[in-house]
Parts: sequence; C-alpha cells; structure tokens
Amino acid sequence: MYFKHYRCTQCGRDYARDEVRYLCPECSQDYRAGLPLSGVLEAIFDYDAIGKKWREKPDPDLLSAVEPGFYPELPVGNTPFFRSARLAEAIGLLDVSIKNDGLNPSGSLKDRASQLVVAEAIRLRERKVVTASTGNAACALSALCASAGLEAVIFAPRSAPPAKLIQIRVHGASLQTVDGTYDDAFAASLEYTRREGGLNRNTGYHPLTIEGKKTAGLEIFLQNNQNVPDWIVVPVGDGVILAGLHKAFLDLHRAGLISRLPRLLSVQAESSDAVTRYFESGRYEDAARPVTIADSISVKTPSNAHWAVRALQETNGASILVSDDEIRRAQLLLARTTGVFAEPAASAGLAGLIRAVQAHTLCRMDQVVLLVTGHGLKDIGAVRL
Ligand SMILES: *Cc1c(COP(=O)(O)O)cnc(C)c1O
Ligand SMILES: [Zn+2]
Repeated sequence: MYFKHYRCTQCGRDYARDEVRYLCPECSQDYRAGLPLSGVLEAIFDYDAIGKKWREKPDPDLLSAVEPGFYPELPVGNTPFFRSARLAEAIGLLDVSIKNDGLNPSGSLKDRASQLVVAEAIRLRERKVVTASTGNAACALSALCASAGLEAVIFAPRSAPPAKLIQIRVHGASLQTVDGTYDDAFAASLEYTRREGGLNRNTGYHPLTIEGKKTAGLEIFLQNNQNVPDWIVVPVGDGVILAGLHKAFLDLHRAGLISRLPRLLSVQAESSDAVTRYFESGRYEDAARPVTIADSISVKTPSNAHWAVRALQETNGASILVSDDEIRRAQLLLARTTGVFAEPAASAGLAGLIRAVQAHTLCRMDQVVLLVTGHGLKDIGAVRL
C-alpha cells in the first residue's frame, strides 16, 4: 500500500486516512446543498516508491487507496480498448480508440467508484452504503453491495430510465425514489447518512469515488502501451469521471512515469452546462434547467465542478455542449461504425468529438480516446431509429 494521506484540494491541509471521511472539515463548513462541493479531498501516494515498482511491473493496484484484500468479489474494470478505423474515417480523424466501459458488470463506469467505496466500507466494517444517483451509480452500488453482502440504500429520481430502476431492485437494494431531480436526491441522501449512519458514496463527496474512476485512466495508459494519448473525450455530469482521469495521469506524472498529461475534452448536454460555462467564464453558476435524454449527465449543480474546471485548465482541455439531437445521431453512428451500443450520456462524447473536429479544436493526426461510459441497453426508450 502506497497510499499516504488525503490532501484538501482547496486549502492544501493534509489529513490521515482515518481522520476524515468525506470533505475537508475546514473548507466544507459553509457547504450547503445546491453548491458545488468545497474541500474535496485528494488521495496522496508515495510516488517515488510507486515509480520504482511500476518500472519493474506496471500495475494499477500500486495506485489504489484501499488494500485489494478488501475488494468485493465481483470483478470490475479491465474493459476492452481498441482502435476503430471505421469511426475515425467517419469523423475525419486518423487515430481513434474506444475504451468500452459499458462492459463493466452493471453496465457503466460507475462500477469503478462503487468497487472502491464498497471496499472501504468493508475495511471500516460499515454494513450499509448510501448514495444519491441519476441511476448508474445506484446500479453499480447495488451490484457491488450484493457481491459483498452489504446493504445499499439508494436515492434516485423517479424519472430514471426503467431499466436502471429494475437493476437497483434486482440486486436487492433499498430504493427511495425522490419526486424531484438528482440534485434533490443528493441532498436527501446526505440527510439520511447524517441521521442513520452508513458510508455515503455520493460522487465527489466521498474522495474514493474519484480514486475509483481514476482506474479507467490508468487502464487507458496501459492498454495504449504506456503512451499518453493526445486527447481523451469524456461526458461530464458531476465532473468526477473527468477529475478521475486527470488524477490518473497526474499520479503517473508525479511518479515520474510520463512527461505530459493528455488533453481532456469535456462534453456536456446543452441544458446541463454548468462545468462548461464555469470553465469559460471563470464564474460558477448552476445550469438553468437540466432536461436532456442523457439522464446520466443531467445535473444542475455538478458536485465536483471546481476540480473539473481545474482538470480542464491543467490539461489544456476544452469543454463542448451538444444537443439531444446530436446525441441521438452520435449514438447511431457509434453503434453502426464500431458495434458499440452506448446509452445517451455515453454517446454524448462522440457528439462532442464531432463538434471539436469541425471547430478544429483537435487535429486530424491527434490520437483520440473516446471513453464510452455506459451501455445502450440501459435506456432503450431514448433510441430513435
Ligand atoms: C455518471 C455518468 C457520466 C458522468 O460522470 P460524472 O462523474 O457525473 O461527470 C457519464 N456517462 C455515464 C453513462 C454516467 O453514468
Ligand atoms: Zn481545506
């Protein structure tokens, strides 16, 4: 184990592993529901030791913040990575690869965060893990808790796609549907853990959600023969996947294993644009009315907005908005050129990539990785043929 301690991304204070659970106690004092989280914690490792070990034998477990012995039984990650010449040609690029995270056990990248938080619950001997979710985080937590024999308590909007609500219930989780938005579910779940205890897995709020999503970036690096791609395209809701990818390459950089970071291309739905506007204007404001078919990125107040913007700044990235129509067209293009069926949020990445090519944000020669974050069968109602 090379995990050393947590560091506050805002004030820089260090905290021992078991001294804090969620946010920096100093910086989160004036946090209230309806604001991006303040005092998000970052896991710090012994990077010198990791650099040496990695050179002997590269292994993402070297950068894990929970001992692998605590992991639940259900395997997560190690999803396929492959080049698609057909997709590249269709959109006017030369080198496009897909990282297909829809092939995780519950069908989305969220399994990575849930795996690590459930491992942490096992380490802390907590019997119950609680989360708010637009859907996929709940499916993931339900599956991972089932495999560990823990109770999952879920707060999700009633409007989540039916298949996701079924997934949650099939794994035996307690589901509390919220008459309202994901942001309302977020507030309800925090209130619940304050009252009833258990470990809260809310995205960005528990620092290990960022560490869990980091493994997608570490795998991309390994599967790309330890080369840093020029761009990684990421659909963004709360901004935790974006932060996780940033953290993956930041950690590799700190360990002396790479000399530059990949540029991150954030893609948001037009109506769920808070990170994009914050990045462009330097001023945070909620999304006015987050209504989109891409339910997994439908967020009014992105919990991890501050780190998401930092990730874009430090990687010289860009952030792009796409319409529901563009998302639907990208879904079909992806399915018909690569054989990968992605849910709407996961298809938004391709819609944004197409826009970025048209805007000359990236060059024809760039090596681009498209991160497909969730499986299309989760929301067949959104497909228009
Ligand atoms: C959660 C999710 C996203 C967005 O991730 P954030 O960490 O909320 O930005 C994108 N696509 C899918 C399929 C998701 O489930
Ligand atoms: Zn702090």
